[in-house]
Amino acid sequence: MIPSVLPTYNRAPLAFVKGEGSWLQAEDGRRYLDLGAGIAVNALGHAHPALIAALTDQARKLWHVSNVYSIPEQERLADMLVDRTFADTVFFTNSGTETAELAIKMARKFHYEAGQPERTEIITFEGAFHGRSTGAIAAAGSEKMVKGFGPLMPGFRQLKWPGKDHGHDEIRAVITDQTCAVMIEPIQGEGGIRVVPDQCLKGLRDLCDMTGTLLIFDEVQCGMGRTGKLFAHEWAGVSPDIMMVAKGIGGGFPLGAVLATERAASGMTSGTHGSTYGGNPLGCAVGAKVTEIVSDPAFLAEVARKGALFRQGALFRQGLESLVARHPQVFESVRGEGLMLGLKCRLAPADLVKAGYDAGLLTVAAADNVLRLLPALNIPDDDIAEALSRLDQVAASVAAAAA
Ligand SMILES: *Cc1c(COP(=O)(O)O)cnc(C)c1O
Repeated sequence: MIPSVLPTYNRAPLAFVKGEGSWLQAEDGRRYLDLGAGIAVNALGHAHPALIAALTDQARKLWHVSNVYSIPEQERLADMLVDRTFADTVFFTNSGTETAELAIKMARKFHYEAGQPERTEIITFEGAFHGRSTGAIAAAGSEKMVKGFGPLMPGFRQLKWPGKDHGHDEIRAVITDQTCAVMIEPIQGEGGIRVVPDQCLKGLRDLCDMTGTLLIFDEVQCGMGRTGKLFAHEWAGVSPDIMMVAKGIGGGFPLGAVLATERAASGMTSGTHGSTYGGNPLGCAVGAKVTEIVSDPAFLAEVARKGALFRQGALFRQGLESLVARHPQVFESVRGEGLMLGLKCRLAPADLVKAGYDAGLLTVAAADNVLRLLPALNIPDDDIAEALSRLDQVAASVAAAAA
């Protein structure tokens, strides 16, 4: 008999009843150190007092009103995002997938209004993940995501991963007078913590400028402070025309945002898009508190410092690099920026995730044989030390089982 919950997830036999900081407590009372953070969602860990206060204060006043009215909490969060980024304007959603849909619509509408309605093709990259709507799966295009769900929305073309094996010239060659936009994650999350080199992001910006193509960054996973800058593209010193944000921005409350320049957004006039829940007072009150905390330069500097602790073990004897060196039969290398980290594995990462459950450690698998570590951005140093020691234990047990 089919379970009452549609069985689209292969769920671990673990259920949590409570969270605090970087720790989750299971039904049986056991505590787990959480290096998944709801897949980069719980940016400030579980039960952060300032977020509880923001949520409950707003909950006592007003949860929801329709977007047919002005929503001051939404305007406040939009102003904060505009102040802190390249963007001139923001649209709020409830998820990352919806930001992909609007990014696609916005880019196509821009060219339509500019008198070039034939510019509809959006270039994406192998290994990408932009969500699970019919449009977002067509954008990513991997067989795993699209098989059985056709016909797919037309107008996407997937290229190989940019970098060593796919350069500027190859990408230039596929930009035509039909090209609408290039959509890319500055760091692929689901694809296996693959960092696009700064030089490639710069090259894409140049190509887009030369050809009048819009550049869309999907920062749903790598944004909101995860890399030690508010947004990952800031490291490369280039900005997009349109950016997708979700996951961390709500700290666990479902919230997403599309940020855009005035020019890129110029086609999205009254009546062209909408959302029932997107940007409601409750979500925006929480999002504003997350944004206020995460965008503080001192907070971002701490994220970068902690990322370095994981990587170099500056304070701890066993950073991830030395973990890799100690378990060459399990791990190949470390990837990522800040607290968006991946361990490229020689064994199936799912086995490591499973062994983590026994060791009281929560991690997430990704494609390309990568084990993802996406802790709360405010994870204390002691918890990093504990995480490294548990990872060491997990690697030893998996190596022993494989031997
Ligand atoms: C998670 C994710 C999405 C989709 O977000 P949902 O909230 O699950 O709809 C889109 N893009 C990237 C890069 C993501 O990591």
